[in-house]
Amino acid sequence: EYFFEINQLTHRYADGTTALHNLTLTIKKGKKIALLGKNGAGKSTLFQHLNGLLKPASGTIYFNGDKLRYDRQSLLKLRKHVGIVFQDPDSQLFSGTVKQDISFGPHNLGWSKEMVEKQTAWAMELTETTNLQDRPIHFLSLGQKKRVSIAGVLAMDPDVFILDEPTAGLDAYYAKQIMRILEDIHQKDKTIILSTHDVQHAYEWADEIIVLNNGESLYHGDPVTIFYQE
Ligand code: ADP
Ligand code: ADP
Repeated sequence: EYFFEINQLTHRYADGTTALHNLTLTIKKGKKIALLGKNGAGKSTLFQHLNGLLKPASGTIYFNGDKLRYDRQSLLKLRKHVGIVFQDPDSQLFSGTVKQDISFGPHNLGWSKEMVEKQTAWAMELTETTNLQDRPIHFLSLGQKKRVSIAGVLAMDPDVFILDEPTAGLDAYYAKQIMRILEDIHQKDKTIILSTHDVQHAYEWADEIIVLNNGESLYHGDPVTIFYQE
């Protein structure tokens, strides 16, 4: 069972940069997937395609067997299932308090007040942000902001969680905390795809590793096999 089937995906930016080149990949349900690759390898370009934020120059992407479409209605539907946590929490978080920010997504989905409350409380609990709920975002540390941005996506209850370098810039303690939270989220039957520069950590954590280089897939498989290939 696949969430994503990506066929011959090529992405070209306006300035002509080819960021993904004939990329073919499948992403299975329920897995923990680590996307590795140097800066500029195409990781965040790929992530933006999975959420319909970018459009392919050529190639196709299927989600749950349906070809991605880019009209507003189809994108809203896709984004109910696929949530992205960006690397920089400030690009994701707005103003107001932690609780207001986390409840914004579920509110936007048109859920009832009770449902929004319930989902927000659940997301705060899992991300250990309940005690921060009345704090203005502005005063939070980076580690706290990261947790709040994860909570905001979690509250919408997507099936697939995409995280762009969720532990970048955090010290070991806060990085561990984030990974513990992702483990809990995975236990709730979520598929997790994250990018990281920490190869060792990816080997230990992931069910599957994808290595991108120059917009192409160098390796896709289990961590053990890639370890012995080197
Ligand atoms: P990664 O996330 O692995 O660091 P990116 O997906 O950000 O890689 O970038 C892939 C390639 O696309 C790089 O060559 C990068 O410089 C280029 N790129 C990224 N964003 C843009 C953009 N908005 N315009 C032009 N080129 C871009
Ligand atoms: P749409 O594209 O559906 O119109 P936007 O995402 O542009 O919605 O957001 C509409 C307004 O809500 C904007 O003024 C934006 O700044 C604000 N907003 C968006 N996300 C949040 C959030 N998480 N918390 C608080 N305000 C937000």
